[in-house]
Amino acid sequence: MRAAVVRAFGEPLVIEDRPVPEPGPRQVRIQVEASGLCHTDIHAAHGDWPVKPNLPFVPGHEGVGFIEALGDGVTHLALGQRVAVPWLGKACGRCEHCLSGWETLCGQQINTGFGCDGAYAERMLAWADFAQSVPDGISPLDAAPLTCAGVTTYKALKVADVRPTQLVAISGVGGLGHLAVQYAKIAGAAVAAIDVTDEKLELAAELGADLVIDARKNDPGEVLRRNGGAHAAIALAVNEAAFSAAYSGLRRGGKLVMVALPAHGTIHVPIFDTVLNGTSVIGSIVGTRQDLAEVFQLHAAGRTRVIRESRPLASVNESIDEVLRGEVKARIVFDFGEGR
Ligand code: NAD
Ligand code: ZN
Ligand code: ZN
Repeated sequence: MRAAVVRAFGEPLVIEDRPVPEPGPRQVRIQVEASGLCHTDIHAAHGDWPVKPNLPFVPGHEGVGFIEALGDGVTHLALGQRVAVPWLGKACGRCEHCLSGWETLCGQQINTGFGCDGAYAERMLAWADFAQSVPDGISPLDAAPLTCAGVTTYKALKVADVRPTQLVAISGVGGLGHLAVQYAKIAGAAVAAIDVTDEKLELAAELGADLVIDARKNDPGEVLRRNGGAHAAIALAVNEAAFSAAYSGLRRGGKLVMVALPAHGTIHVPIFDTVLNGTSVIGSIVGTRQDLAEVFQLHAAGRTRVIRESRPLASVNESIDEVLRGEVKARIVFDFGEGR
């Protein structure tokens, strides 16, 4: 089977022929139909973070495909069933986080395409308990971006506890942001979308943003404050300065939800302002299996649109460059079906 492999951090991925893996106990093997390119895969391939994957590895945590082999002990999934394989490849199921509905914080989790091989491959393994059934009627090419970009932003808006009378700032209208705008609208909020390219700002407006802010021309914090300040700002731009701008655009009692993971990222949080204004600064990491089920439910009901461009896996390196140059409209999805 073909797979795109990271052999060295910062080097182009290598398309290799690899043996088809055999599922272990409680695992399944999936014939991958579609695999989204999340910016996290680029961070992983570049070794951007304090924690790095072991080399070599196959990235990809927006994998969607059919189950073609069942490991021992798998009883709730069937051959031929379509599933999605998210970043949360596995969690322990026993710790306080797992038991309290916060499996995304499990200290023993294994992350797909990071701690084990991921979805940039014709076949992949997944732990059956964390492979999410994809409802009929959702195209695999749509399901792929929902599996990380969708669930992550849906969860970030839950964490922000967004209400219909509120103003929500979405900073960065990329793969994650274009879905965040839609979830914020579904929650009933007014949305201010911030980006640095005309195309993304136009897309945000098309998806329902009430206000678009071009961070090249205006200080987003100042524009938000002029509009009363944001009740919540969701930081999705791979840019440190964008976090500070989002923080400065909050109203009293506002929440900054940090989601993007720029390399070596830090922000300066002034103690006095944070205390006096009752500001919350919250980190939010992906979403649970239940969150992903809700994301699929909304999409199956026709309430979200996935903006995507499909490509063959062989284009992986050019595709990564395009994401880094900000040229992709929202999400690239590797299509393993026709025309691969
Ligand atoms: P992306 O490249 O598709 O989108 C980033 C967007 O930010 C682009 O539209 C870009 O134009 C915009 N941008 C760049 N500079 C900006 C600025 N100064 N102000 C406003 N916008 C700006 O990336 P993505 O796949 O959406 O991922 C975004 C980030 O989220 C990455 O760092 C990724 O690793 C991270 N991520 C985190 C989680 C999580 O669970 N916390 C999950 C998935 C992805
Ligand atoms: Zn992701
Ligand atoms: Zn756990």
